[in-house]
Parts: sequence; structure tokens; C-alpha cells
Amino acid sequence: MEFKEFTNSLFINGEWHQVDQKQTESVVNPATLEHITKVSYGGKSETEQAIAAASAAFSDWSKKTGRERSRYLYRAHELMLKDVDRLGEILTMEQGKPLQEAKGEIKSAASFLLWYAEEASRGYGEWLPSSTNSKRMLVIGQPIGVVGAITPWNFPSSMITRKVAPALAAGCTVVLKPSPETPLSAIAIMEIFEKAGLPGGVVNMVTGDAKAIGQAMLNSKAVKMITFTGSTATGKYLMSEGAKQMKKVSLELGGHAPIIVFDDADLEKAATLSLASKFRNNGQTCICANRLYVHEKVAEAFTALLKEKVEQLQIGNGVKEGVDLGPLINEQAVKKVKAQYDDALSKGAQIVCGGSDLNAIPNGLAGFYFQPTVLSEVTDDMAIMTEETFGPLFPIQLFSDDDEAIAKANNTDYGLAAYIFTENTGKTLRTAEKLEYGIVGVNDVFPALSEAPFGGMKESGNSKEGGHHGMDEFLEKKLISIAIE
Ligand code: NAP
Repeated sequence: MEFKEFTNSLFINGEWHQVDQKQTESVVNPATLEHITKVSYGGKSETEQAIAAASAAFSDWSKKTGRERSRYLYRAHELMLKDVDRLGEILTMEQGKPLQEAKGEIKSAASFLLWYAEEASRGYGEWLPSSTNSKRMLVIGQPIGVVGAITPWNFPSSMITRKVAPALAAGCTVVLKPSPETPLSAIAIMEIFEKAGLPGGVVNMVTGDAKAIGQAMLNSKAVKMITFTGSTATGKYLMSEGAKQMKKVSLELGGHAPIIVFDDADLEKAATLSLASKFRNNGQTCICANRLYVHEKVAEAFTALLKEKVEQLQIGNGVKEGVDLGPLINEQAVKKVKAQYDDALSKGAQIVCGGSDLNAIPNGLAGFYFQPTVLSEVTDDMAIMTEETFGPLFPIQLFSDDDEAIAKANNTDYGLAAYIFTENTGKTLRTAEKLEYGIVGVNDVFPALSEAPFGGMKESGNSKEGGHHGMDEFLEKKLISIAIE
């Protein structure tokens, strides 16, 4: 696929703009290290223009009925679904995930447009029974205002629609800052909104200097809310800066998901789904399994099943048929995985399969690759057991006592997703209630659907995206207290 140079990739007030001094930055294919194209490198002044456009558009957009707003989202949903193949290819080229996964992400991204097209009409309020007969009390939800949305590269399409669709449904207007690694998917989504006829200024996008764009959002009194998906470190920074104006800062952050395989688990299912959780998007998923706790009674059989499956994974350029694992996003990501791997080996971990020998990767792969690797004899003092990995490295630790496994699973500041494999209903519920995570998957590792609230506890975040809960984040609750006597 050929790309023109996107020197005018800023989408402001319904039009495409370039940066005053025409600054651009390069987009690189992580599978081949080839330069794909250039996009505009915007900053403070472009963000201020985008915020002004979003502020001007807010008045009309917020007054539209939910039904009126939903029409644009339905159109955007249809346009996205019609274009799955092309959008999937763009995503694979700039992000690296295999084409089938990329197309799956586009369908998931479209599902948020559909869900919030439906939800737009359902911003229900409440009529409260009053403690006195002399009053009536009602609560309404009103759109919070202009929203600054900041998104990461690992799901460059669905992380955008999971924020923008509920914001628009609620009646908010948006200034989006996508990741510099994956701006092409974001540009394609703006083109879809443009074709869907969204009024100018309702959605705006500035690619470029993260700090300058973020600061302009934080400094602006017009921006009432920042919705961010990314690392916990950046999330904490935005929250502390946002506090200066008491901005609402809604955060979807990093994870360190445990999988617990109990001794009554269906081992074939557990191995297949553990593999899917860990190696989807090459381990670069906020909810992907980071730690495996396996009951010692079934450890040998489970490890053998997992090893067999991991050894079958095909690594390579995601555009090629049959590839299961693409590259990591950049050199820094490979270094991080390698550092955790070296640390684990230096403290006694054993290689079940894989390893850091890059010569084992098929010839001709110039990109940012790391072999899918499983480690055993893993101990709690290893970095891999305390830090988010974001790569294809899977540590297994054994346990003999169920409560010990749950305590270990909870022993982290993260709290996004946890998974358990068991066929016992009582154990399912007891364990799910004890796990300190916003999401618990039971014999299930794909909990992120448009109809469900997705979000973390502890340092993994403070909000929900998806479901009716996702639109609620963009609605401010107002009490109307009416004396009737
Ligand atoms: P990141 O480094 O925090 O960056 C995320 C976004 O924030 C990027 O667009 C980045 O732009 C921008 N950013 C960084 N510093 C900023 C600042 N001072 N002001 C404004 N924007 C700023 O995270 P990432 O490496 O892209 O994404 C991976 C992380 O996201 C992982 O920790 C993963 O777990 C998490 N994640 C969480 C969820 C969830 O739903 N909980 C979903 C997906 C990913 P630059 O790249 O230009 O700095």
C-alpha cells in the first residue's frame, strides 16, 4: 500500500491543516523498519486552535437530541465496516500486528461506534423519592464539555472509538491526540467522521509533540475533561496536572494480569486461552497475561501443552499469511523485554521454550522482533513478576494452596484484569470476589466488548470505557431540587 505524505494531517474544525512551519515526523513500519510516510508535527498553537474549534462546536452539538447525534455514529460505523480490509492493512503496516488481528481490531473499533449510536438516546436521569412531601428531586446528566482524548499505539483504532464514540453520544466535543507511532489509523478514522458528515469542530485531531499538546489541553479552561489511555506513569502526571483546575481526568492505564490455573481446570482450554491472552498483539495488550500461577498438581501437563502451542507460533511480518506474531513496536520495547528476560535468567529462571537468540528468528526480518518465550522456576524478586512486560515473555510459577495464589495475584499496584481457569462454580465466585481487579475473566480471556465496562482498579485506572458506564463518564450529574409547596 502506498501512502501520500500527510503534511496536512491535523484535522481542525472539519478541515485538514498543516503546521505553520510545516514540521513533520516519520512513520516507520516496525516489521521492516521502512519509512512509510510523514505526518504533521503539531504543538501548542495547533492544539489551541483545535480546542477553540471544539468549544465553538459544543453549543450546537450538545443541544442536538441523542437521536440526532446517533445518526452520525451509525454512518461512521457503516463506513468503517465497509473499509475493514484497507483499515486493517494500514494498522498492520504502522503497528505490526498480524492482518487478521488488525481486521479484528477494526471490527471492534466499529462496534463502539454502533454501541454508542444506540446508547446516545439513553442518557437517562433519575427521579428521586424525596424525604419530604414538599419537594421533588431529579438528577439529569449533561455533557461535560470539550474533552481532550489521548490514545496509545497498541490498539490505535479501537482506543480512539472507545473514547470518541461515547463522548460524542453524550454531547461532548473532542480534541484527539493519537500516538505518534500510529497516526495513520487515527487519520483514517477522522476521514470516516468527515465522510459521515460530522459538523466541523465536533471532532478534531492534532498529531505531534505529546508534551506540548498535553500541556495545551491541561492549561485550557475550555477543556473540562481529559480521557487518557496509556502508561500509569503518564496517567499519574496528567492527573496531578489536571488537579490544578480540578479537571476530570479519566484514566485507562497499565496492567500486570495474572492467570491462575486451578487443579480442576480444563487444561487444554487453559493452555489455548493462556496462549491467546499472552501472545495476542505480541504481548502488547494492557490486559494480556503477564504472570501464570499454575497448581503444582497440573503444572507438568499444563506446561507441556503450552510449550507445544508456543513452539508452533509463526513470527514475521504481519501482512504475510500464516503469521501469528508480528514485531514489537520499537527498539525500546525489545530492550525492555530483553532486560526482564536477562534479569529472570540471572536469578535462576529456566527457559521452557524460546529465548533471546535473535538468530532463531527467520532470515530477512529486519524489524523489532523477540521470540515467544516461556520461563519456569520464576521467583517473586524477578522484574517480570512486578513490572508490566509488554512483550512475548511468559513466566510460570507453581502453587499448592489456592489462597496463596490469590494473594500473589493481588500483590501488585496494578488492578486491570485477572483470569482464572476452573470448572468449579463456588471457587469461581469466591476467587472472583477476592481478586482486586476491575475485570475478572473466568475461562475467558477476551472480556473487552463494546457493551461491557472495561477499566482498572488501583494504579490501573479510575474509569470505565464501554457499556452504558462508558457514556456516563462524559455526563455531569446535576441535581434539580424543586420545592412544590
Ligand atoms: P504512554 O507512553 O503513556 O503514551 C500514551 C499516549 O500518551 C501517547 O499518545 C503519548 O504520546 C501520550 N503522552 C505521553 N506523555 C504525554 C504528556 N506529557 N502529555 C500528553 N500526552 C502524553 O503509553 P504507550 O506506551 O503509548 O501505551 C502503552 C501503555 O498503555 C501500557 O502501559 C498499556 O498497558 C496501556 N494501555 C492501557 C489500556 C487500558 O484500557 N487500561 C489500553 C491500552 C493500553 P507520545 O508517544 O508522543 O509520548
